[in-house]
Amino acid sequence: MRVTYKLGLSYLLAIALLFALVNIWGRDVCKNKAQQNVKTQLQSMVSKLSDTTVANYYEDAGLIATFRSELSHMQAVMGIRIWMVNADYSVIADSQMGLLDPIVTSNDYDPRILDQNISENVIINKVFDEPMLVSSEPFVFNYRVAGYICAFVPMSKMNQEASGYIEMLNIGMLIIFAALLVIFIGIYYYTVVPIKTIKNAASEYAKGNYDYEMKIRFHDEYRELSDTISYMVSELKSNEEKQRKFIANISHDFRSPLTSIKGYAEALKDGTIPYENKDKYLDIIQFEAERLHKLTSSLLQLSSIDSGGLSLDIKSFDITKVIRTIADAFEGTCRNKKITLKLQFDEPKIYVDADQARIEQVIYNLTDNAIKFSNKDSDIILGVQIKGVKAVVRVKDFGIGIPKESINRVFERFYKSDPSRGKDKKGTGLGLSIAKEIITAHEEEIRVISNEGAGTEFSFTLPIS
Ligand code: ATP
Ligand code: MG
Repeated sequence: MRVTYKLGLSYLLAIALLFALVNIWGRDVCKNKAQQNVKTQLQSMVSKLSDTTVANYYEDAGLIATFRSELSHMQAVMGIRIWMVNADYSVIADSQMGLLDPIVTSNDYDPRILDQNISENVIINKVFDEPMLVSSEPFVFNYRVAGYICAFVPMSKMNQEASGYIEMLNIGMLIIFAALLVIFIGIYYYTVVPIKTIKNAASEYAKGNYDYEMKIRFHDEYRELSDTISYMVSELKSNEEKQRKFIANISHDFRSPLTSIKGYAEALKDGTIPYENKDKYLDIIQFEAERLHKLTSSLLQLSSIDSGGLSLDIKSFDITKVIRTIADAFEGTCRNKKITLKLQFDEPKIYVDADQARIEQVIYNLTDNAIKFSNKDSDIILGVQIKGVKAVVRVKDFGIGIPKESINRVFERFYKSDPSRGKDKKGTGLGLSIAKEIITAHEEEIRVISNEGAGTEFSFTLPIS
């Protein structure tokens, strides 16, 4: 069910509950309260009259006349009819009659009401045309009951008062309904609207529209969610861009060697290239094929790294021995370029814990780079230093160096600071990115320091056994 419906349903439920509560329980409470109010008012008035004033007036017949007029005044103001009844149950003063003689005698009503503090539904046909609520209280003169004070209000007055209360209750209920409506609309606005915004944005992103802007107004969990999604989308976008660039690079790097292989093979076949020159062109074909082979294995290696990380075969081995072997392997190349490889080890044997084959690959690439980017007649230092629990492997050359603007990018895939590939035609630009993946998989660090024109030093750490 949609949240909007749920909210609407909750609102209706809340209203229904409130309505039921008010009608079942609230109305009774109001009615009782209203009736109680009228009764108490009547009782307190009667008891006040009997307590104080009445006795004084009763002493003197002249004063009774004053009392009568006072009673009629009270009736006019409060709407309560008051009787003063003597011990024979005859009414001697009546607020309704004013100064005239009262016409009600003990035959006209049931005198038992005089003994009750409060009596309901009293019917006195001669005087009242509706049932009355009566409160009576005796008054004392010369130590005996001299008479009674009675006060009357129509029973309907109690109901009127009760409906006043109920009307207030209903108005209160309406106000609560309205307030609840505002609250529910607020909840809708603060919860459903942002969810809809996020949903719409997500479907835009799913369609590939990464530039769609998601606007969440308030700083709350929904904003955090939308920020997280935006971050995810920016990552997706940059990944997609990387992917696109990656494929463009691969295609480019495959196409040029393939073109020359195809061209020379055809030319050799149809005789465009004279038979005597075939070796030179076969060499080129071989060179390009090797380059393609290297490119393919680097790509395969990177793809296996990407799809599950590197699994390392960590063993203890002597890193100086590995470096000596690599130096031997490069002896021929170095001799051609008149480059001297200098080995500098803090100790003759340094054992480290690492994946030997992978570390060989890293050092091989660093040395290969150092030789490629060195000038003739220069030195390259291959060294291992001991720093605390780490061995630091250094490959330092005095070659062309890396331009400042490229230094942060050399570990990127396919990055070559010399895109014309003048110095290094065979390079793929993948060697350092693979080296970095390998060192990172060992949870170690690889660094580069370089000065353009002066040389470059790559170094990485390994844990000493
Ligand atoms: P591959 O390693 O596959 O043969 P590559 O050597 O071109 O290709 P990387 O080893 O990743 O690729 O090197 C990337 C780039 O970094 C090089 O093309 C070069 O521009 C720069 N670079 C690396 N090492 C050095 C160095 N010692 N001196 C100067 N530039 C270097
Ligand atoms: Mg390289």
